[in-house]
Amino acid sequence: MFKQGDLEHNALRQIVRAGKKGMLQSELWRKLGASSRWGSRMALKLTNKGLIRRERELSNGRWTYRLYPKRLPASIDSILDSPCLTCPEDSRCGALSTVTPNGCDKLTMWLLELANKEVDSLDEN
Ligand code: SF4
Repeated sequence: MFKQGDLEHNALRQIVRAGKKGMLQSELWRKLGASSRWGSRMALKLTNKGLIRRERELSNGRWTYRLYPKRLPASIDSILDSPCLTCPEDSRCGALSTVTPNGCDKLTMWLLELANKEVDSLDEN
């Protein structure tokens, strides 16, 4: 017999795995082998905790909800080209050190390039 916390954790994990496309409430219940009544309660509970958001959606002629995670795990891909990963000053660099990220031109340039890419991708959409 599963404990309530285990089911909640599994439900959240399934929703996070679905990523940005989210998943229908009914898909979730099927995957967890739960009833729709239990599923609705669980979705509401996760929503009230601020862990997911629900959006109404018409599916096969019936109104249901699509569940989206509010947060997705960070991808390591986003920092693979960070200058800090290959920086010779890495071991001496810190907020209170003489070498600091606050005044680092390499880090600033990298962040500006990221920001420009983000703006470009928003312009394309
Ligand atoms: S912030 Fe600058 S100096 Fe510090 S580790 Fe990163 S690239 Fe090197």
